[in-house]
Formats: sequence, structure tokens, C-alpha cells
Amino acid sequence: MNITGNVIGRHVPYIASWSSETEAPKPKVIPRSRGIGFADETMTDRDTRGILWARTPSTPGHGKPMFAAVHSLRQRRAMRRLLCQVCGGPADRNANGVLWMLRDFRADWPDWPAGMGVTEPPICRACAEHSARVCPALRRGYALVRVADCTVIGVHGITYNPRHSEKSEAGIREFTDYRLPWTVAYTLVRELRDTTIEEPGA
Ligand SMILES: [Zn+2]
Repeated sequence: MNITGNVIGRHVPYIASWSSETEAPKPKVIPRSRGIGFADETMTDRDTRGILWARTPSTPGHGKPMFAAVHSLRQRRAMRRLLCQVCGGPADRNANGVLWMLRDFRADWPDWPAGMGVTEPPICRACAEHSARVCPALRRGYALVRVADCTVIGVHGITYNPRHSEKSEAGIREFTDYRLPWTVAYTLVRELRDTTIEEPGA
């Protein structure tokens, strides 16, 4: 089987972090008049919506791969442009939509995964086949899902308590959420809306 993508993509997913990226010092979070900011904040720390994003250096390939740590900037890029989370190339797409590979929880609700908010970007066909063989988490069951409508609805991040700045809580914050000004965003969230499950290996 041919695996497309670069050498890094074959072994370390595009959206995974490297130790040179996770070990960088974090900016100090301070209260603002309504919300939070970084003590040394610059224009590039917020997106066009004014959302504060985690500051992450981009040095893939340097240090050790950190498979469990999603890289904020690469996740955002892959999610925004619908790129494969493993190789960073275009995700697979057909008449039924873009391809997603998810842990199989189809027993959770009748039209699963419709309505689910995801931080995992989509995937290309070659990387889906490769991941099914080598990824331990997927051996417990996965679903290949076609998604015709996958709107960006918000971010996943850490929200600081307005009254107790040392206390924080991680979770999905939709763009309408009043807690957004107190949140440092880490990943972009899409909601899977118009979904069709393909059988594994289909
Ligand atoms: Zn791929």
C-alpha cells in the first residue's frame, strides 16, 4: 500500500506536538477589564474574532514526538482547511462529504455521530488504512464517517474563573459562549452535522 505524505507524517501525525514545542515557556495569563490576556500579549495572540490562542512555537521534527499532545497551530490549520490530521495533505472527499475516522460510539445515540463536536481533523484514505493497522486506540473499534456539513462552531480551551484566576476548566466553548473572553483556546471545533457511516474498511 502507498502511504502519501512526508516522512514525518508516516511516523508522527501532522497534528502531534514535538518536545521542542511543548517545553517552551508559557505566557503569563492576567485579568483584563472583561476577560483575560497574556502579560506580554501581541496582535498575533488573538484571531479575527478576538479569541486568545495558546502560544505554540512551530518546530516539528525537533526533539521527541509527543503523540498525545495536539499541536494547537497545526490542528487549527488542518481543521480550518480540512487537511488530513496524519499527513497534512488534503483530507479524502467524495459526493457524501469529507472523511472522518472516529472511535466507534455508534451505540451512544441513534444518528451518531450527527451533532458531535470534534477537535480531531479529518483524514485521507491512505492514512485511514494505515492508522487502522497501527493505532492501538482504533483496534478497539472505529468508524469511517462521511460528513457533508461540518461547520466550525467554536474552540476547545481552558476557561479561567473570573473571580479566582488560578482555577480553570477545560472544555468546548462555542462562539456564542459568554465564557470565551476568559478562555485560552487550544483547538478549533467543528460540529459534524450531515453524516453517513461507512463500514470499517469500506
Ligand atoms: Zn493523510
